[in-house]
Amino acid sequence: MGEAHRLIWQGPGCWGLALEPPTRSCSPALLSKHKRYNDRNKHPSHNKPQDVNKRQLLERVRKKTNTMNYHQYYPIDVVNGPGTRCTLFVAGCLHQCKGCYNQSTWRLDSGLPFTPQMEEQILADLNDRRIPRQGLSLSGGDPLHPANVAAVLQLVKRVRAECPGKDIWLWTGYKLGELDSQQQQVVDQINVLIDGKFVQELKDPALIWRGSSNQVVHKLR
Ligand code: SF4
Repeated sequence: MGEAHRLIWQGPGCWGLALEPPTRSCSPALLSKHKRYNDRNKHPSHNKPQDVNKRQLLERVRKKTNTMNYHQYYPIDVVNGPGTRCTLFVAGCLHQCKGCYNQSTWRLDSGLPFTPQMEEQILADLNDRRIPRQGLSLSGGDPLHPANVAAVLQLVKRVRAECPGKDIWLWTGYKLGELDSQQQQVVDQINVLIDGKFVQELKDPALIWRGSSNQVVHKLR
């Protein structure tokens, strides 16, 4: 990404690329780039009716297929979870947490298509013995957004089958007790789930692996 971007920390699972606010020194070209970026990734509630129809159609297609978009993939990451990891930030989140620094990930159609090649790359990186990885971290956006579940389920099943010994951590805005059966199938494959929305009033920088104290780290296996 260009020089106008920076990585913002909002607690584990809530890193995001964002545009620095425009400054007086910004050139017209950079200001135009900001506008294009923000238009492309604007909050779903700002959509026109025809955009909402397109989004609903996209959600239906994604639920029936194993396609999704992603924002970032870090083949080597030492921040989001224990040890050295591969980390994938998917696109799409319905939770609209107040104070979310990751709003650019909310739209399902933001980011880039998560291709079969990208899935193969993640598996290859996890099995790369030159730089041993402890596991895979899945964040976003929300990996358990109903439209992402099919693609995420395929990915975690493959990691479980093809990357022995690797753990899987997943951050979601849903609570463990409110997951539907398909979301639960994903959770059945992973090692650690960090659940719950980010609540700004409960934000605590001293927390490990979570941004606010309402969120829970569930060690599942
Ligand atoms: S769960 Fe909340 S904090 Fe995390 S990306 Fe979604 S809206 Fe933002």
